[in-house]
Amino acid sequence: MLLYTIQIPVAKKLGLDNDSRYLDITVKSGDKAFAPTWKMVMGSKQDRITDEEYAHQYTDLMRQSYKSNSQCWNEVLNLDEVILACYCKADSFCHRYLLKDMFVKCGAEYIGEIRSIDDLKR
Ligand SMILES: [Zn+2]
Repeated sequence: MLLYTIQIPVAKKLGLDNDSRYLDITVKSGDKAFAPTWKMVMGSKQDRITDEEYAHQYTDLMRQSYKSNSQCWNEVLNLDEVILACYCKADSFCHRYLLKDMFVKCGAEYIGEIRSIDDLKR
């Protein structure tokens, strides 16, 4: 699998939010199998949990999700290309990069963050 990441406003601007490869992983508008909880999101926004704690909680949550949503995980892991999307700015602390690392461990190849349409291989 070829893996990309993108910021949702950039995806909308580039018209990638309707692309078959696009995977919104936010708790607000995305696939809940890969989303953090609202409690984690608000805790992070309000500085009640550190990035390290957030990463730890998200990893635990995804371990559970892998068991309880295994069909969903397998469907995604079997795709040729996936674009992981979240609202956070590029290169900020964001769970799309944490999930990207998990997918890489599952055999995906990370191409990078999409900032312009030229960043897509095809
Ligand atoms: Zn994010």
